[in-house]
Amino acid sequence: MKTRLLFLGPPGAGKGTQAAMLCESGGMKHLSTGDLLRSEVAAGTELGKEAEAVMNRGELVSDALVLAIVESQMKNLSGQGWLLDGFPRTVPQAEALEPLLAELQQSIEAVILLELDDAVLIERLLARGRADDNETVIRNRLEVYREKTAPLINFYRDKGLLTSVPAHGSVEVITERIRESLS
Ligand code: ADP
Repeated sequence: MKTRLLFLGPPGAGKGTQAAMLCESGGMKHLSTGDLLRSEVAAGTELGKEAEAVMNRGELVSDALVLAIVESQMKNLSGQGWLLDGFPRTVPQAEALEPLLAELQQSIEAVILLELDDAVLIERLLARGRADDNETVIRNRLEVYREKTAPLINFYRDKGLLTSVPAHGSVEVITERIRESLS
């Protein structure tokens, strides 16, 4: 199975859940920039203080800040596979990832795009109830996704790396679809 992966898709598509399942069985390191940022916020670090307000508005944290986090995580992996979840989220982040991967002599083996209708996304996010999961902020996050992150779909499709997976149905059914697309 491929073990250097990237998850793409709107907030609420289930990237975090699916990434955790896949990494548990496949032994990859789950690198979620959202989770890493939330740990910084919880620990009250300078970085966390800088990120918190931005996250609670549903905006994106600066590329430089996120890149610094990803870089230090990836340089500490010692040969293990990885799954990037929530990064890259902008074209500049995707462009910055390339020299980092070149330096590590690694490359992305597959990009999984989890696709789901807006109505279902909003319903799932409202049910989750995280600090950034109220309706106004959710709508903003979906708009930010469309504007800043969705261009990455063509970015990776052009590289021949993209696989699209429908993200409706039960957690298990979706995991199976992803596994099939990776075999
Ligand atoms: P979701 O998948 O529900 O959008 P995440 O946990 O991936 O949630 O991200 C939560 C928030 O963390 C984002 O709305 C954004 O503010 C910040 N964030 C996470 N990853 C990035 C990134 N790569 N670049 C900029 N901001 C990010």
